[in-house]
Amino acid sequence: MRLIMLGPPGAGKGTQGAMLARALQVPHIATGDIFRQAVKEFTALGRKAQSYLERGELVPDEIVVEIVLERLQKPDCGKGFILDGFPRTVKQAQALEEFLHKEGNALTGVILLDVDPEVLVERLTGRRVCRRCGATYHFQYMPSRVEGRCDECGGELYQREDDREETVRHRLDVHESQTRPLRDYYEKRNLLYVFDAAQPIEGVFVEIMEQLGRGQL
Ligand code: ADP
Ligand code: AMP
Repeated sequence: MRLIMLGPPGAGKGTQGAMLARALQVPHIATGDIFRQAVKEFTALGRKAQSYLERGELVPDEIVVEIVLERLQKPDCGKGFILDGFPRTVKQAQALEEFLHKEGNALTGVILLDVDPEVLVERLTGRRVCRRCGATYHFQYMPSRVEGRCDECGGELYQREDDREETVRHRLDVHESQTRPLRDYYEKRNLLYVFDAAQPIEGVFVEIMEQLGRGQL
């Protein structure tokens, strides 16, 4: 299973990606998580990426592609993977396609989480993330059992710096101009599967699993 989660910030890529990874037993590779971890650890990658993340801009293609292709060569990707937040530009999609082709592999499908942009600001400004393990919550739509604490590991929940309203609006614009063209890109390759991501979290998951079960994805 080699899947891509596509959709605007806040559509639910991370939420569904984590649930699918658990169900399908493949790694969930989220480029945003990789960058945030690198920033936290002050690594060379973190220093390169930090200002882009803070401004809600995309990290340059060369940097992202190198990180992802290196990650995809790890043994745990042998059975497949779920990519979340990558690709975000046509250049990134082409680099991935070329890499998979060289390996004699191809994508299984691209899961597009489609949702009206109006709900995204509310989802993103209400998102809370575990500082320790990265699990995602929403103070209203997916609250943790104990306020401010992660259900999985007890870590502290915080609001991402780039989830403040001003940066959120800019990220949505960046998505429109740089990432939306990927819909056409994958549709032309007959790889695009569209899901209504406006419904509750469980409903989206069930629909994706049903389609996978029917072998239609
Ligand atoms: P993305 O990875 O696409 O940026 P997330 O999976 O982090 O999005 O989801 C953004 C926020 O919206 C999170 O706080 C998450 O709990 C919440 N969320 C995700 N899917 C839904 C949904 N279907 N309905 C309501 N809230 C959702
Ligand atoms: P995310 O967690 O997916 O919302 O990503 C957070 C931030 O990480 C983005 O706003 C970008 O700055 C950076 N980022 C993540 N994935 C990519 C990518 N594929 N290409 C460029 N920048 C990325």
